[in-house]
Amino acid sequence: MSLENKKEKEQEIEIPKETKKENKKENEKEKEKETKKENEIDEKLKKPTSKDYYFDSYSHYSIHEEMLQDEIRTGSYCRAILKNKALFKDKIVMDVGCGTGILSMFAAKAGAKRVIAIECSGIIEQAREIVEENGYSDIIKLVHKKCEDIVELPDGIEKVDIIISEWMGYCLFYESMLNTVIYARDRWLKKGGKIMPNKSSLFISGCLDQDFITDKMSFWNDVWGFKMNCIKKLIYLEPLVDIIDQSAIVTNSSILKSIDLNTITVEDLSFSVPFELTSKYNDNINAFVTFFTYTFDDCDEIVFVSTSPNSPETHWKQSIFYLQKPFRVQKLERMTGNFSMKPNENNVRDFDITIDYKVEGKYSKIESSQDYRLR
Ligand code: SAH
Repeated sequence: MSLENKKEKEQEIEIPKETKKENKKENEKEKEKETKKENEIDEKLKKPTSKDYYFDSYSHYSIHEEMLQDEIRTGSYCRAILKNKALFKDKIVMDVGCGTGILSMFAAKAGAKRVIAIECSGIIEQAREIVEENGYSDIIKLVHKKCEDIVELPDGIEKVDIIISEWMGYCLFYESMLNTVIYARDRWLKKGGKIMPNKSSLFISGCLDQDFITDKMSFWNDVWGFKMNCIKKLIYLEPLVDIIDQSAIVTNSSILKSIDLNTITVEDLSFSVPFELTSKYNDNINAFVTFFTYTFDDCDEIVFVSTSPNSPETHWKQSIFYLQKPFRVQKLERMTGNFSMKPNENNVRDFDITIDYKVEGKYSKIESSQDYRLR
C-alpha cells in the first residue's frame, strides 16, 4: 500500500472516541515501559548521556586514550617519577585530576606509601577498577570530587609530600586547570613539599602557514557549489590547534611567560607582556604560533619537554593565531609586540587573548592588534 492510499484509508475509518482513549493510554503505558527498560540498560552499562558529555568531557575513555597514547607526555611523567624513586619512597602523594590513574600508579610503583588520587569526572569508576586490577588498591585511594570541594583527605591524612598533576592545556593555560593545582598546593602540600612538574614556559614565534590561503580560507569560497564566506571571519577569532611544520617558522622564539609552580598565584594567570622577534629569512608572516615547555628539575633526574614545532609531536600540537593583516619581513628584521591573556569573564575555562604587533621594516610598516578567544 502506498503512503497516499494509507492516509485516505485512515481518514475513511472513524475510530470511536473511547477506543481512541484506550489506545492512547495503552500507547503511553508501552512508552513508559520502553523508557524504563532503556533507563535500566543505560544504568547497567553506565552509559553517559549527551548531557554528561557536554558537562563532563573527561568521563569518556577516548580523551584519556589520546593522552595515554601521547608518548612524549606520558613518557615524561613516567621517567620523572620512576627515575626519581628515592623521592617517592614512603611518601604521601596527591594526584590532582588522576583520570585513569596512570600517574598514581607510576607513583605507587616508585614506592609511594599512599597516593590520593582526585578526579571529578566519571572516569574515576574505571580508575578504581584499573587500580584494583593492578593490585594497588591498598596504596592508591581514589576520591571522586572536585579538588576544591574536598573537606578531608582519606585515612586522616592532613598534608601531602608531593603533588603530581598533568594540568597543561592548549596554549598552556586553556581549561584553567592550573587554578586547581594552585588550590591543592596551598591547601594540602606540606611546607617544603614538591610539585611535579615544577616549571613551565609559554613561547611565541612568527610563521608562514602556506596552506592557510590555499586550503583553509579558499575552501569557504565554494562549498559544494555554495559560498560560505562568513565563516572566514571566524577563522581569525579563534586560535587553531594544529601542527605547524618547523619549516614554516620564520622568526626566533620569544618567551611570554615563565611560571614556577611553587610560587605562581591565580592572579598571575592574567598577564600582558611585551615580546620581540627577529626574522630568520626574507619571508611573509601570516600567523603567530605559541607553544610551551614543562620541566621536572626539582629532582635528581631532570625531565624536560617542549611542544615547539622543532620537537616531536604531542597531542597539544601548537596554537596558531592567524593575522588579518599579514606582512613581509626582511632577514634579521626585528618586530615588537604585546601578548595579553586573561580568563574570560563569563567562562573562566576560556581565555581572551590580544596580540598587538608592530613592524617598521624594509617591506612592511605596520602596527596592528587582533583579539582572539581560546575556547
Ligand atoms: N592524570 C591523568 C589525566 C590528566 S587530564 C593523566 O595524566 O592521564 C586532567 C584530569 O583532571 C581530567 O580527568 C579532569 O577530569 C580532571 N580534573 C580537572 N579539574 C579537576 C578538578 N577541579 N578536580 C578534580 N579533577 C579535575
